[in-house]
Amino acid sequence: MKKCRITVMKMARYDDLIEKYENPIAHACDMQPGRIFIANGWQKPEGLCDSAWESMSALG
Ligand SMILES: [Zn+2]
Repeated sequence: MKKCRITVMKMARYDDLIEKYENPIAHACDMQPGRIFIANGWQKPEGLCDSAWESMSALG
């Protein structure tokens, strides 16, 4: 399995948009810029944001 390093470059969170959802998410995203994750193949690294991982998986 190929290892891949993922660095959080930017975290975008739009509270105005979150408020418009019927069921607002308390923790939309906990990523902090500068955080580094190591992905082992297509296994999501522990603690990595689900939507970020989904977006990256779609690119592969
Ligand atoms: Zn996120």
